[in-house]
Amino acid sequence: MAKTAATSRRSPTPATLRTRLESLARNLYWTWDAEMQQLFAGLEPLLWEACRHNPIRLLQQLGADRMAALVADASFLRRLGACERALRDALRAKAWFPRTHRGKAGRLRVAYFCAEYALHESFPQYSGGLGVLAGDHLKSASDLGIPLVGVGLLYRSGYYVQSFAPDGKTVVGTPAYDFTQFPITDTRKHVRVPIGKRFVKARIWQVQVGRVPLYLLDTDVPANARKDRALTHQLYGGDNELRIQQEILLGVGGLLALDKLAIRPTVFHLNEGHAAFCALERLRRAVRQYKSVEKAAKSVRASTVFTTHTPVPAGHDRFSARMMMRYFPNMPRDLKLARADFLAVGQEHPGRKDDPFCMTVLALNLSAHCNGVSKLHGAVSREMWQGLFAEARTVDEVPIGHVTNGIHTRTWLAAEVRPLYDRYLTPTWVGSSPEDDWWRHADRIPASELWRIRSLLRKRLVHFVRRRIVEQRLRAGAPSSAVGDAYGILDENALTVGFARRFATYKRAPLIFRDPDRLETLLCDPQRPVQLLFAGKAHPADQQGQAFAQAIHEYAEQERFRGRVVLLENYDMEIGRLLTAGCDLWLNNPIRPREASGTSGMKPPLHGGLNCSILDGWWPEAYDGTNGWAIAADEGEAATGEALDRRDAEALYRVLTDEIVPCFYDRDSADVPQRWMEMAKRSMQTVCGQFNTHRMLADYVSRYYLPAHGVNA
Ligand SMILES: *Cc1c(COP(=O)(O)O)cnc(C)c1O
Repeated sequence: MAKTAATSRRSPTPATLRTRLESLARNLYWTWDAEMQQLFAGLEPLLWEACRHNPIRLLQQLGADRMAALVADASFLRRLGACERALRDALRAKAWFPRTHRGKAGRLRVAYFCAEYALHESFPQYSGGLGVLAGDHLKSASDLGIPLVGVGLLYRSGYYVQSFAPDGKTVVGTPAYDFTQFPITDTRKHVRVPIGKRFVKARIWQVQVGRVPLYLLDTDVPANARKDRALTHQLYGGDNELRIQQEILLGVGGLLALDKLAIRPTVFHLNEGHAAFCALERLRRAVRQYKSVEKAAKSVRASTVFTTHTPVPAGHDRFSARMMMRYFPNMPRDLKLARADFLAVGQEHPGRKDDPFCMTVLALNLSAHCNGVSKLHGAVSREMWQGLFAEARTVDEVPIGHVTNGIHTRTWLAAEVRPLYDRYLTPTWVGSSPEDDWWRHADRIPASELWRIRSLLRKRLVHFVRRRIVEQRLRAGAPSSAVGDAYGILDENALTVGFARRFATYKRAPLIFRDPDRLETLLCDPQRPVQLLFAGKAHPADQQGQAFAQAIHEYAEQERFRGRVVLLENYDMEIGRLLTAGCDLWLNNPIRPREASGTSGMKPPLHGGLNCSILDGWWPEAYDGTNGWAIAADEGEAATGEALDRRDAEALYRVLTDEIVPCFYDRDSADVPQRWMEMAKRSMQTVCGQFNTHRMLADYVSRYYLPAHGVNA
């Protein structure tokens, strides 16, 4: 032992140093640890940016000279040692769940199924909020020591890479990612997944997310036919035929993968309907065991948790009866059901001719524990699906509850703010238990210090956006004058408003442009300027969503808005982090009640940013009149379509003009906006402690996981 200790004090060889750095990079814990990120970035800052913050890729490209220098750099080695200890401690620390749950509850094992995971920008396996939520779910499960494994698919091309043609049309890029640069490990195990009459082989990869393993299936293996190799190339790509096959891979293949890995979950959490075939396959197995489909269904339902994520009809996958029979030809026989009774398990209106098989209906029918993702969305879902629950006499009796979404604080918090919290939210603002709420001490933070950090974050964002616009214009072949101009866009001190999310049409990205002249007056006030930053992808098949992006692109090009309105390409977690940290105001104007929760608005309050939102999703639960703004039209006739847009836009202009802009520019003698800072602190106190994934996971454990595990908390 003494000898090892002595040797370890000597410099490592470049090879061992590389190995140590790589093993640090292969646990995604670093994606929520600022010291580790700084360690990687410091290896070669320019290369770190060029590699999209991917440490594995960076290490592949790091030159031998640099390695040789690092081996001799005592301060670097000390920091590396500290990071390695931090990771070891994080993996070993006795966490909240094992501390508080013993006996039968302690034997809980959750399998969490989701079609997408957003863990970091360097691992682009997500399209938007659902993936971000799933990624944050795994991270909090790791922090809290909740015994959970993730299951999903590994996409060779991810979702898509967005750029804009000179006329603002969306250009869809389909990269083929190099898996050697991903933080994935080959388990050397495979499953053979029955899809219709054939079997498709899938490799099981493992991703380590702190203490939580995530298993991802990939059909791009030599044994498969070419078409089958392409099954896992794209997230949400292709047509309904591809979709059903991917969902069989996720649900049935995922279950087979858990068998292969000898993982025996006690609870199955289907995060969105995409994974509902998992419950169907479990039902098939249970029928073999119980001989009766009723008893089998009861046992499957008891251990299944289902979370629905949208009231928008297009968000619920539906397959025709013919298609279902093509992919599950033997299922009626295996379930001992007539064909019509099998199909009825997924039909909203069984008996109605041509009623499609809906994944949400399947999941609701096979889960005893169902929830929406905000209080309002729970109520909307109960109403939406009341027809499925004959036993519910009133809508309140429909067995769909809610767990309001959250964000994983350490993932979304900008490093610049941490010293402030270390100082004022003592002893430990980042709670090790979901009940810790140090945010209530935010009123201890002096306004001038918070304002200094806000100004710094805004400045950093402005510089980031300028660089990005330079790159965008260079790529688009813009004239050199336009490229040069990009260095002068935006104002470091102007009220900065952000809008970034998927460009699904119900989110109404261009709403604020409804009256362009009025907006111009608002933005171009020389004493009180305002600027708007946009980012977001529309689905490649969503023409109207793409038209929204194009409309914003065109406004941004107009002389009057030039340098004050900016549309960034290829929204991702990095842009999301920088925008939600740097913007003063976060804008959200969906058609109520279509925003099931929304989580992006939970990120600015960590940084002293404020929300201005329609009272939809999570916002009605948080908004109290002192911590941000509601876009609330006068009570009146319920409006839809054009009339609704007009009414909501009017309310938005009013709140901006009468309240928000005056509040931001109301400064004391030291140029600090005291009133704004008061609201920012109220927002921190009321949002950050509540709307985070630690609280969310604790809710899932007590209200869903433990009951599904057979323990009443
Ligand atoms: C937070 C986040 C989202 C979620 O945004 P919503 O406003 O909830 O739709 C989507 N994408 C990225 C990259 C995010 O960071």
